[in-house]
Amino acid sequence: MRNVVIIGSGCAGNTAAIYAARANLKPLVVSGHEAGGQLSLTTLVENFPGFPEGINGPDLVENMRLQATHFGAEFVHSSVTDADFSVRPFRVAIDDEWMETRTVIIASGASARWLGLENEQRLIGKGVSSCATCDGFFYRDKNILVVGGGDSAMEEANFLTRFGRQVTLVHRRDEFRASKIMLDRARNNPKIRFLPNTVVDDVYDASANVVTGARLRNRITDEVWDEPVDGFFVAIGHIPNTRVFKGQIDTDPDGYILSKGGARTNIPGVFHAGDVQDRVYRQAITASGAGCMAAIEAERFLEAEGH
Ligand code: NAP
Repeated sequence: MRNVVIIGSGCAGNTAAIYAARANLKPLVVSGHEAGGQLSLTTLVENFPGFPEGINGPDLVENMRLQATHFGAEFVHSSVTDADFSVRPFRVAIDDEWMETRTVIIASGASARWLGLENEQRLIGKGVSSCATCDGFFYRDKNILVVGGGDSAMEEANFLTRFGRQVTLVHRRDEFRASKIMLDRARNNPKIRFLPNTVVDDVYDASANVVTGARLRNRITDEVWDEPVDGFFVAIGHIPNTRVFKGQIDTDPDGYILSKGGARTNIPGVFHAGDVQDRVYRQAITASGAGCMAAIEAERFLEAEGH
């Protein structure tokens, strides 16, 4: 029987683990299939307080994990495949093995959203990617296409100019969600070419098992053309990882956990932390803060229950 199982190992999960471990709760952290969360897929983080020169995302999240381990948190490199919150103690299946726990902190984050094209899915890892930091290196002197109009797309496009000959940024509208500073940085980068009002109709070449191009369409003029590219990066936002909790935890229509105040979900003893609930701020620092809140609430919940 566990006091607390923390699902997810990004900023939220790791910070919850530090606090829960220091409260002597010996938390078990289920790292998930994207261990380290979104920070492990990023480069320099310049806005996490305490690092005036910035810090690499993977280093930041690894430091948090080490800090949690130092205080006694235990990590398993597995995923939660099922959960039963209808009875107490709660039950959580970790890679299909059931385990009992008095409290749960859901910090499972959000995963990359895809366009949903058949060939896009077939070519993931063969030229199609959602992570410039992971895969940019493979596109030295190549032509790269980035889809999206938010901060992620700007960040990826800028980062990819370190490698690619040219980066074409395709966005479905001519207005951008990206913050002004990120948009300006991309606009001022001579290696980035903007294609607004443009959508992707297809990605080639699934039969050759490698990306060779994309069919693009201008939404205003309806012009359709084939754009030769070697790398196809999708940066169109994220989907909360709540599928395994469906029907048990109250979520909004997009799957984000609905908060009942603080870190509370609709089930007493099950808490939320980070991007799995937060569709507004979604920052490393807010996720860490939310992890801290969830651990403090779990600790108080256990204390009130006499544990
Ligand atoms: P986002 O702000 O939600 O932007 C998603 C973009 O993808 C939008 O431009 C959207 O187009 C487009 N999109 C969505 N679905 C699409 C589809 N099916 N086909 C084509 N385009 C589609 O997501 P994000 O850029 O990942 O950013 C998420 C949050 O993280 C934001 O708060 C952002 O500020 C933050 N962030 C910050 C940094 C940083 O500060 N370093 C870096 C990355 C992200 P529409 O605009 O037309 O809807």
